[in-house]
Amino acid sequence: MFTCRKVELHAHLEGAVRLTTVWELAEKKGISLSVNTLEDLFDACSIKSPSCLADFLKPFSIFLPVIAGDGEAIERVAYEFCQDAAKEGVLYSEVRYCPHLMSSMYGPVKISSGPLTPREVVMRVNKGLSRGMVDFRITVRSILCCFRGNPEWSKDILELCLEFKRFGVVAIDVAGDEAVCLAQPEIVEAFRNASAVGVHRTVHAGEAGPAKNVYIALTELFAERIGHGYHVVDDPDIYAECLERGTHFEACPYSSVLTGSVPLSDIKHPIVRFAEDNANFSISRDDPTIIQKTLDQEYEFLRGFGLKEVHLIRANFNAARCCFLPEDEKQLLMQKLIEVYGSYSTLPIQIDVPDYIPPKALAGAGDF
Ligand SMILES: [Zn+2]
Repeated sequence: MFTCRKVELHAHLEGAVRLTTVWELAEKKGISLSVNTLEDLFDACSIKSPSCLADFLKPFSIFLPVIAGDGEAIERVAYEFCQDAAKEGVLYSEVRYCPHLMSSMYGPVKISSGPLTPREVVMRVNKGLSRGMVDFRITVRSILCCFRGNPEWSKDILELCLEFKRFGVVAIDVAGDEAVCLAQPEIVEAFRNASAVGVHRTVHAGEAGPAKNVYIALTELFAERIGHGYHVVDDPDIYAECLERGTHFEACPYSSVLTGSVPLSDIKHPIVRFAEDNANFSISRDDPTIIQKTLDQEYEFLRGFGLKEVHLIRANFNAARCCFLPEDEKQLLMQKLIEVYGSYSTLPIQIDVPDYIPPKALAGAGDF
């Protein structure tokens, strides 16, 4: 039912790399991946059971060194991202990445053969996305991520957002471990300046961290959207305010569980709460390289929790309404969804999730 009809707002380019490409490039470059077969690589990079964010991020150290610092590889990954998203039925995607982590200057590999600056990373990604959009008839824009581990990059990242605003970069984000700190002063300053100069803002908050991080993201970082935000439901006042303001949550179902952000328990999954309360949320894959699930499987996972088609359709309208396209292009995207699903206003206003199935009972649906 969802072929070519999805809007995805939260996928990391670094986490959406094809492992077949990694394997091929590693062989060509003579880089050891410490595995014997492609199958082993898939196995080494997949997260099979819920853990913590630090464990979830470990596989990046296996495959990112093959891509980072290599302009051609980065362009290829961006191009392939378009193909893969189109295959997933995505009409419009906002893909995010940290240009510094993909560069040769600050990333995991310091290469001697001509450094690739963060600016050149952005240019390479843009080139790959431009080619991919034409070849696979999909619209993709990008978001540049600040990184909590390196707040000193934030000023540069905002400058790159501004420089490439006319070339598909639509927003700034901050990712990394919330346990360290939601936002160091350099990051807060970059987000304040972003707001002042009209660069859109989304913030990873309330994923593993508490509800108050969502509140800080909204009030001190001027976030227009929240990446994940599951723990917002733990604080009734903050959650009520988010519902009132219509705060958009970029929910990533499998990721929420595999990062350990939402424990597998009998307590209602926050995305079920979002659906029941008609909260403004969308559905994305986060890091498909390590989660190894398709967008259809993410939807299926939510059906397993009791969500109905109307919730999933509404999530796509929410994504289109809250994407960072200019208003005229956003209207065109909304129009495309209306052509597929009918008018948004005809969707029932309130539909409770009728049969909440606790995750423990999800035999087979979650593959945990
Ligand atoms: Zn993320």
